[in-house]
Amino acid sequence: MHRFFTSPELIDSDRVHFTPEQARQFRSVLRMGKGDEVLVLDGEGVCYHVQLQYLGRTEAQGRILSSSRAGGEPGGELRLCQALTRGERFEWILQKGVELGVTLFQPMLTTRTLRRQPGASKWIRWRRIIQEAAEQCGRGRLPVLAEPITFEQALAEKKGLSLIPTVTALKPVREALQNASWPLTLFVGPEGGFDPHEVDMARNAGAHPVSLGARTLRTETAAIALLILSAAAMGEFDHAAPRADIQSEVT
Ligand code: SAM
Repeated sequence: MHRFFTSPELIDSDRVHFTPEQARQFRSVLRMGKGDEVLVLDGEGVCYHVQLQYLGRTEAQGRILSSSRAGGEPGGELRLCQALTRGERFEWILQKGVELGVTLFQPMLTTRTLRRQPGASKWIRWRRIIQEAAEQCGRGRLPVLAEPITFEQALAEKKGLSLIPTVTALKPVREALQNASWPLTLFVGPEGGFDPHEVDMARNAGAHPVSLGARTLRTETAAIALLILSAAAMGEFDHAAPRADIQSEVT
C-alpha cells in the first residue's frame, strides 16, 4: 500500500485532506480511484489506514478506517552533521541517510567547504528527497533537515556520543561504538577533509576522532559507512518490525 506523509492539520476527525500535489499523484501517477486505500503518516508517529473518497484534479479526501503507531523509527536520535558537498552527493546522502535512520540532517559549513549556501529551489528539492525516501522506506516520522550552520555551531549542538571520522585518526570506529547508547552525533567532513584545527576543536568539545580504515573514502561513502556501522552497533539491523503495508513471513 502506498504511504504518504501529511501534516496533522490536514487530519480532521475521521477525514484526511490531501494536498493538490498528492491529489495529482493519486490520479496521474498512481492511477488511483475512489475506494483505493493508502497509508497516511502524520509525521508525529501515527499511521492512518485511509480509503479515498473524493478524487478531484487538485483535491482529494479520504476516510480514516483505522490508526496505529507508525513503526520504522530508529531506537533513538541519530544526528548526521554533514559538511555541504557538491552536486548530487548531498542528495544521495540525504536519501540513504533517511533509509539508515537519520533523525536530523545538519548541513555544516566548514573551513574547506566548497559549496555555497543552498538556494530556495535546492531546499525544496532536498525536502522532497527526504519525504519520498521516508515514504518509500517506511519511516514513521519525517527526518528534520536543519538550516546550514557553522562547524562550531554544530559542535555546540552535539548530543550524546559524538564521532568525527578523520583520515588521521587511529581509533577504529568499531571500538568507539562499543557499548554506545543513544543519542549519536556524527560529523562528516567535506571533499577536502576537516582542517586540523577543526579536529582539535572537536576533540576539545568531547567528540571522538575515529578511523574508517586504511582507504580514504569520498565524503558520501564515509557518511554512509559511518551510518551503517553506527546503526549496526545500536542493533538497528537486528530486529524486523512488521509493516502495516507489507505481509510478513510466517515463521
Ligand atoms: N584528503 C582529505 C583529508 O585529508 O581529510 C580527504 C577527505 S574525505 C574525501 C571526506 C571526509 O570523509 C573526511 O573529512 C572524513 O570525515 C571522512 N573520511 C574519509 N575517509 C576516511 C577514513 N579512512 N577514516 C576516517 N574518515 C574518513
